[in-house]
Amino acid sequence: MTLLELVDLTASYGPIQVLESVSLTVPDGGAVGILGANGAGKTTTLRAISGAVRSTGTLRFDGKDLRGLRPDQVAALGIAHVPEGRGTLSDLTVRENLKVGAYLRKDRKGIASDIDYCLDLFPQLQERIRSNGSALSGGEQQMLAVARAIMAKPRLMMLDEASLGLAPSTARSVYDAIGRLRRESGIAMLVVEQNANLAFTLVDTATVLETGRSVLTGTSAELRGMDEIRRAYLGG
Ligand code: ATP
Repeated sequence: MTLLELVDLTASYGPIQVLESVSLTVPDGGAVGILGANGAGKTTTLRAISGAVRSTGTLRFDGKDLRGLRPDQVAALGIAHVPEGRGTLSDLTVRENLKVGAYLRKDRKGIASDIDYCLDLFPQLQERIRSNGSALSGGEQQMLAVARAIMAKPRLMMLDEASLGLAPSTARSVYDAIGRLRRESGIAMLVVEQNANLAFTLVDTATVLETGRSVLTGTSAELRGMDEIRRAYLGG
């Protein structure tokens, strides 16, 4: 079943059209990547889905039209956005950040067991549970951003550049944990990632954006095998 569907999506910042025609689908429980050069419109695509940028075209989630909804309304439908720059709250502790992630939920037992799950998925956060967000390393902040999204109990998680600025081994362990989350939870994933090698460890298919248009979609294996993709995104 299709969970998220974009067809010919357009979006602008004021007079500047940034997305001209973006089309992609995320199946329920699937994981889809968005690849593209700097400025191609990857972040804007996620922001259009989240309701932070207005869009035209088809934008449906679980059969519902998302256009015109505010970010809080989109979140309430089950879409969690882990933004570029992570967005962890620096004055709150790790535990408080996790609780903020669950602000729409009322099931106290479920919230407590999901906090336990997050700390099992990211043991480093357990060690830092009383630390303020501002005291965390970049990797720990990224783990917390993902964990906070888990706390919202989403059906779709959108990840923007989760590896940015992290040491390679830290980036790999973050992606390993996200892969485990995907297997165990069935949460669908839409993943923007500069490091295509890392993205391909997680996603089933990916769409390539060029100047606001989706120009190519394929399975991870197909895309890995294409010379132009290798040259542009895989460093070889
Ligand atoms: P990056 O990897 O550099 O973040 P991206 O593919 O995510 O690239 P976007 O961030 O979506 O690209 O940006 C697409 C285009 O929109 C770029 O040309 C960018 O300069 C422009 N843009 C982004 N945010 C704004 C804004 N708030 N106002 C005006 N233009 C913007």
